[in-house]
Amino acid sequence: MHRLVILGGGESGVGAALLGRQKGYDVFVSDGGAIKDKYKQELIENNIAFEEGQHTVEQVLNASEVMKSPGIPEKNDLVKQIRVKGIPVISEIELAYRFKGDSKIIAITGSNGKSTTTALTYHICKTAGLDCAMVGNIGYSFAKQVAEDPKQWYVAEISSFQLDDIKDFRPDVSVLLNITEDHLDRYEYQFENYIRSKFRIIQNQTMNDYFIYCEDDEVIMNHLALLTIHTNPLPFSMKHEVKKGGYIKGDQMMLRIQDERVSMSIYDFALKGKHNHYNTMAAGIAATTIGIRKEKIREAVKDFHSLEHRMEFVAMVRGVEFINDSKATNVNSTWYALESMNKPTVLILGGTDKGNDYALLNDLVKDHVKAIVCMGVDNKKIIAAFKDIVPVIIETDSAKKAVNASFKLAAKGDVVLLSPACASFDLFKNYEDRGKQFKDAVKEL
Ligand code: ADP
Repeated sequence: MHRLVILGGGESGVGAALLGRQKGYDVFVSDGGAIKDKYKQELIENNIAFEEGQHTVEQVLNASEVMKSPGIPEKNDLVKQIRVKGIPVISEIELAYRFKGDSKIIAITGSNGKSTTTALTYHICKTAGLDCAMVGNIGYSFAKQVAEDPKQWYVAEISSFQLDDIKDFRPDVSVLLNITEDHLDRYEYQFENYIRSKFRIIQNQTMNDYFIYCEDDEVIMNHLALLTIHTNPLPFSMKHEVKKGGYIKGDQMMLRIQDERVSMSIYDFALKGKHNHYNTMAAGIAATTIGIRKEKIREAVKDFHSLEHRMEFVAMVRGVEFINDSKATNVNSTWYALESMNKPTVLILGGTDKGNDYALLNDLVKDHVKAIVCMGVDNKKIIAAFKDIVPVIIETDSAKKAVNASFKLAAKGDVVLLSPACASFDLFKNYEDRGKQFKDAVKEL
């Protein structure tokens, strides 16, 4: 009997366990930490053996195959032993792929914009009436969806960690939004390794498939120049026209896919900001490749609601607009947030620094930011970076204090933008908690 050992009892691990069990595998879940109650419940209900707080090495090493959860690094001792023994290691999306039948996959990856583009693509598919589900990093296990409620189409948000251990995984449509340095601790501090991981999304694609990517991204283009690809390339750009794919000229987005032509004013996009123009183009191209009609694409792109914590409009309080971009946990994300500002901005910045280079924000800060409110443990670096270009910088140590201080600094017609460029673990549980506390404080004003 095929013995599938699963390392990690979170969303992907438990999803894979349910699918493996349903397909007749002998499944064992091993988690070195605590497994959340809701997941434990699912394992018990489905008679799946598991352990938590420890890994029983001999139980793990007698696997026919190991499914490693995305959070577990390659340098983990147990993973090293598994590799030495030559046991095949797969990721959860590989298992989901194995059992998806003739369903199709739109897989979306990149360093930034994955969740937004995934949610928008899914929204377009839903608007067009497709039998589809949104899965992956966005919060719902792909494997669990395949086990419990299979669909004709899966719109999947895919991280580099999920791509590290694929074998046959082949999306019908793949999207690569951008590549900037991230997660290098998991890639031996070699940017090249991380880039290679992202490109695995096309490794099994064929000429029946599509590969949608950003032609304005130098890292993508430099790497692509070295590859022979076996899929249909569909680039998108905001800098020049493309013969096939998508581009923006003036205020018009143009999509050209085979004989299909879609045009739309960027002022009709529900998602604002340059970064979201890229995301919207990518989603529009993906939808066009699978035959969704342009009327449906236009309708869906117009009425999409942005995701929580990503440039989310919170409220207008006495003429001051509050925006929650708590998900901006790196400098690049904050750069795009500032780039989309067209009013004087009070910027709430800070948290746990990840080796940030704030100089990248200088020009945008000069143009848009009237005051900075620091909120976190690593404020000194922010103050040093901006003291000569921003007239007012103050320090706070909670979301409530930051909101109150920002409100005092803002005048009617200004924006208060929470876009921290930092991780949230100093004062908050995670970025969601940070965003929620921000919104609660705004509502109390
Ligand atoms: P991910 O799922 O890849 O983390 P999200 O869609 O959650 O991405 O967006 C995270 C943050 O990244 C947003 O708050 C926004 O500021 C920034 N962002 C979104 N799309 C892009 C893009 N295409 N390029 C650069 N930054 C982006």
